Amino acid sequence: MDTICLPAGEESLKQAAALLRAGQVVAFPTETVYGLGADALNDEAVRAIFAAKERPADNPLIVHVAERSQLEGLCRVTPTAETLMDAFWPGPLTLLLMKTDRVPGVTTAGLPSVAVRCPSHPVAHALLKECGIPIAAPSANRSGRPSPTTAQDVYEDMQGRIPFILDGGACDVGVESTVLDLTGEIPCVLRPGAITAEDVASVVGNCTVAPSVMRPLKEGESAPSPGMKHRHYAPKAKMTVYIGTNEAVSAAINERYDWNDNAVILAHSSAMPLFGNRRVFSLGDTPQEGAHLLFRRLREMDALNVSLILAQGWKPEGEALAVMNRMARAAAFDLVEL
Ligand code: AMP
Ligand code: MG
Repeated sequence: MDTICLPAGEESLKQAAALLRAGQVVAFPTETVYGLGADALNDEAVRAIFAAKERPADNPLIVHVAERSQLEGLCRVTPTAETLMDAFWPGPLTLLLMKTDRVPGVTTAGLPSVAVRCPSHPVAHALLKECGIPIAAPSANRSGRPSPTTAQDVYEDMQGRIPFILDGGACDVGVESTVLDLTGEIPCVLRPGAITAEDVASVVGNCTVAPSVMRPLKEGESAPSPGMKHRHYAPKAKMTVYIGTNEAVSAAINERYDWNDNAVILAHSSAMPLFGNRRVFSLGDTPQEGAHLLFRRLREMDALNVSLILAQGWKPEGEALAVMNRMARAAAFDLVEL
């Protein structure tokens, strides 16, 4: 199969929407990462997403809509969900709600709940509006690779596997949406993203964070969100994440850095002068800049075939929880707090 990649425009959007309506798979930009979309209510189309990604069938997909009214008949929208949609939609917040029979089991990996989101990216919004159907879309990477934040990343992973990629430039946020479980008594963040637990609590009064967000699952512990049990965001290299002041982190990394290893450092911009002439790349200074750059850097490190990544992280709380959840998983939870 040839994979066509076109800049998003009036014509290419129409072409992409027609493919989606015909049950094909199309990659498109969102404000978080690129998505791999297909008709969420069409079993065959959804199976084609799993095949293109080589994604395990027990890892459910997020259903994307252009507007709230499209959720009618798909899931039970609770008053808490309404309040959160008022506050954060369109945007990087995915809500878990109880599904109806209209949503096929293949989309939700057999779960009774469905994840729904309304993206704010103008291209995603225009595409969803143009095709008029709910679109199931996981991140557009091959399973086990970092999520794609540019159309080139998608092409790298999906060339020959899908017919069409809409290019909308680099994604703003850079990590996937917040997944918030609304099926229990208290809203619970299963996957941290740009909308924080504090943001949610400020609107609905209460919000918890699943403990497995910053630690590996224990033996026999079931994953609250199936994505968490799969190997995720893993670079080819071994990786350690250091958390502390620029001085403490640079001292620890410089001590560990061995010139004979094919090692690289990922550091905050402000710390970069502290590493002498060792090989160092920037992760920006704020957790948001880190989120925006992390997956790009991990892909670059894979392409450079480095064997060791020594990275500077942030304290895993508040706005930094999203980027730290991905850094921790990329490092197989090898975190050093200084
Ligand atoms: P992706 O879009 O590739 O980031 O994958 C979507 C993620 O959302 C999955 O890996 C799950 O962790 C989560 N998710 C989607 N649907 C559900 C659901 N019904 N219950 C729990 N988690 C879900
Ligand atoms: Mg993914």
